[in-house]
Amino acid sequence: MPRWLLVILALLVVGLLGLGGLLLYTGTPPLEVMSLLASDAVVQLRPDMRPARRHGPRVLVVALDGVGADEFRDAVRSGDMPQVSALLGAALDSGGGLYEHGLAPQGVLSILPSTTYAAWTAVYTGAAVAESGVAGNEWFDRETMTFVAPAPVSVKGHGDAVRVYSDSLMHGWMAVPTLFERANVRSYVTLAAQYRGADLLVRPDAKSFAKLAASFTAGVVDGDKDWEMYSALDQAAIDQTLDAIDEYGLADLQVVYFPGVDLFTHVADSAMQAQQRYLTTVVDSAIGRLLDAYRSRGVLDSTYVLLVSDHGHTPTIADERHALGAGDEGEPEDVLKAAGFRVRPFELDTDDEAYQAVFAYQGAFAFVHLADRSTCPKAGDRCEWKAPPRFDEDVLEVVRRFDAAGRSGLGAERLEGAIDLIFARESRGVEPAGPFKVWNGDSLVSVGDYLAANPRPDLLDLEHRLEGLGVGRYGHRSGDVMLLSRYREQDPETQRYYFAARYRSWHGSPSRQDSEILFALARPASTGAELRAAMRAAIGEKPSQLDVTPLILRLLGK
Ligand SMILES: [Zn+2]
Repeated sequence: MPRWLLVILALLVVGLLGLGGLLLYTGTPPLEVMSLLASDAVVQLRPDMRPARRHGPRVLVVALDGVGADEFRDAVRSGDMPQVSALLGAALDSGGGLYEHGLAPQGVLSILPSTTYAAWTAVYTGAAVAESGVAGNEWFDRETMTFVAPAPVSVKGHGDAVRVYSDSLMHGWMAVPTLFERANVRSYVTLAAQYRGADLLVRPDAKSFAKLAASFTAGVVDGDKDWEMYSALDQAAIDQTLDAIDEYGLADLQVVYFPGVDLFTHVADSAMQAQQRYLTTVVDSAIGRLLDAYRSRGVLDSTYVLLVSDHGHTPTIADERHALGAGDEGEPEDVLKAAGFRVRPFELDTDDEAYQAVFAYQGAFAFVHLADRSTCPKAGDRCEWKAPPRFDEDVLEVVRRFDAAGRSGLGAERLEGAIDLIFARESRGVEPAGPFKVWNGDSLVSVGDYLAANPRPDLLDLEHRLEGLGVGRYGHRSGDVMLLSRYREQDPETQRYYFAARYRSWHGSPSRQDSEILFALARPASTGAELRAAMRAAIGEKPSQLDVTPLILRLLGK
């Protein structure tokens, strides 16, 4: 068909169907339609927002980063979170999590790693890493040789952190549908990175967010940090959210994300007490302002309010002995260099394409990606990253070296006593990955067999959660070898090590303290017992982080 005829046909189709119709007609969704609304902070994500439903329940999700189940319960019990206490009503039992108008079941676990980007993606998709494609705060994709760091840990460059809001960075990396796409109701998202499919986004001010990201990525460099910078981010987002509600009305599904509480806990002196103070001083009143927006419109009673977090926090020491990724001597990189590997520089973007190994850090976990070194033996050779590394010469070689380093400091003195477990597997390159096995000092054995011989009740639901991390289409993004640092709740702070720059608190591990998340449902017009029945009907007796999306869909009547 001649080109002029195509053009005329295309114009006819646009004329008949309108632009939205053309997008439907061609099957191409309006991917990046971001138009500014009231200010730079409020962005409309679709050409036309979905109309709000006339009937049907609303859901308000309050997403608190880094707030563990215990810490939240303690803060509420202290009486210093009056807004949240009033929402839940009186506690009806001593430990079951039942309230007059709410329910906070215990023992709800995050996915692995218990690290922000992977865990929130699980919240907003219902999928763990190997399926969602989002492996942690940073990860390496061997299919495209891309290093992605929306929340940089091993690298300092914070360009991806900014691109989360300026270029919808996560849209391209999430391999499964989001809550907002599946719910298909009018949805507003404040600050959450996984907003693909929503109608409206409240994002941070670009300049101050870049400043904050740069400062946070540097870790604890001097003295105590106050929370001004972090609470300013949270407060500004609430202001913008309330303005957006005033201007465009309430959404059927509203997500409000509070990143400040996690960022502050990482750097604050006496991290856990500092977190409590942040919750009672900053977060509670902010939640109160949100609830007022619903109350003043007469719909708070019938709104489901879901409070949820991504992971907990475990305090540690902010010095170079405990921080295994601060760029000092004797760190994991040295082990691979001693084994002859060319390691990718710890930079977000690099001109060096001749690396044979890549680290991605997640606090308690380090992912180690290996190339088949026989495809790139000479300095300057680019490796065939789509192919798997060799099992003996590459994978097992690295496992043995890290085992020796963990036992005696051989090759990297600061690793002595700092490694808890080493996981590895027969890699399949970019094909769907199989399960991780554990190194028992002599060979790789299945996680089940290892735990039968070496019980580790402190590592909760380890086998099952490792499967979600490793087994599937994108399982390769968690590495060929995976290190778990010694980061045990039962140890003193002085014996907790982490893969990151210097911080006062971290997370990522399978421990209870890192993994038990806030998961509380409230609705003023319902009793706690009614909510419990509704939750059981929707997601069963034993919810996990992967049940947040299914629960919200059910509450919305989807
Ligand atoms: Zn987090």
